Amino acid sequence: MLRLDSHPSGQHFLHIPGPSPVPARILRAISFQTIDHRGPEFGQLGLKVLEGIKQIFRTQHPVVIYPASGTGAWEAALVNTLSPGDLVLMYETGHFASLWRKLADRLGLQTEFISFPGIEGWRRGVDPERIAARLREDTQHRIKAVCVVHNETSTGVVSDIAAVRRAIDAAGHPALLMVDAVSGLGSAEYRHDDWGVDVTVAGSQKGLMLPPGLGFNAISPKALEASRLARLPKAFWAWDEYLDMNRNGYWPTTPATNLLYGLHEAIDMILGEGLDNVLARHQRLGAACRAAIDAWGLENLCLDPSQVSPVSTAVLLPEAYDADGLRRLILERYNLSLGTGLGKVKGRVFRIGHLGDCNALTLLAALSGCEMGMRAFGVPLKASGVVAAQECLQ
Ligand SMILES: *Cc1c(COP(=O)(O)O)cnc(C)c1O
Repeated sequence: MLRLDSHPSGQHFLHIPGPSPVPARILRAISFQTIDHRGPEFGQLGLKVLEGIKQIFRTQHPVVIYPASGTGAWEAALVNTLSPGDLVLMYETGHFASLWRKLADRLGLQTEFISFPGIEGWRRGVDPERIAARLREDTQHRIKAVCVVHNETSTGVVSDIAAVRRAIDAAGHPALLMVDAVSGLGSAEYRHDDWGVDVTVAGSQKGLMLPPGLGFNAISPKALEASRLARLPKAFWAWDEYLDMNRNGYWPTTPATNLLYGLHEAIDMILGEGLDNVLARHQRLGAACRAAIDAWGLENLCLDPSQVSPVSTAVLLPEAYDADGLRRLILERYNLSLGTGLGKVKGRVFRIGHLGDCNALTLLAALSGCEMGMRAFGVPLKASGVVAAQECLQ
């Protein structure tokens, strides 16, 4: 809550699954004076961030950085590679998959949504077999792209992207593979090249620890080739001018200079800790969060233990309790922000973000707030989740 008339004591605990807390180092970097985006200094910064971000995507190929939120990067991925009326296969894993589909429809693409009754699809990741089966039927190759979400932020479920690639290849189908990695990148294992992804979409305000405002497209050579024939209208999003100017570290329009200072710092922090160490830290935090849920006797929205997210966890409350009422109480009493239930799980779940700049003690503080809040709200708890999480992290 933004309180302009008073300043609450202590720190605000921002534990929504994005935007995530921005570390002081990054905030300081962003506060530097804006420089000439056509000057020599900027070119050096541009080359450094464009090269550095590739290591986070684990790609050798270009990454385009837009001054945009993740939604803009979704649009960019589609308009650069597809033509009006093209058929796109999408998969209902949760709220963000549903929104990407809606965006594709609005662009004049034809979407086919592998969907499920009720919240069934929201409790599991993508079943690659379903995709392979649909592609095998498509003998005319009408499907031009398969679009899936890697870390479904609305549900705390991760999909196996390498398995989706294998499914597409096993079906002998030429469709492009496009992946939304908006919330996972920088916090959950992701491999653009090794997993054979054609376009990866990402954003700045989640695993990358930056404020909102940067959108990313990582582009495979096959996607780049598709962009030469794609006929959906595009101007601002067109990759060609970006790629051309990026060669020397510049942007075709005015870039988000200060966010790029922040990105430079974020890359330095992630590579300084070691990307593998960062990913392992988030695995531990996710495990501790799940230990708390088990101890409380509550249910994780994610049903399959092999698909749990290291980025965010959605806690399913018993039917009688309104999760948004609980969140409100927790915010007012403890200055802790938790993620709301989105779409089909509105009011049923609250989400705990453990992405980006999060460590054992910040997570334990958040779990304490959840536990005290649930007690005050009357949610029956079996045992202390905080103690269970401590034991897990010890
Ligand atoms: C946050 C998010 C988006 C949307 O990004 P915006 O920055 O809000 O436009 C898309 N996909 C996923 C998985 C997200 O978590």
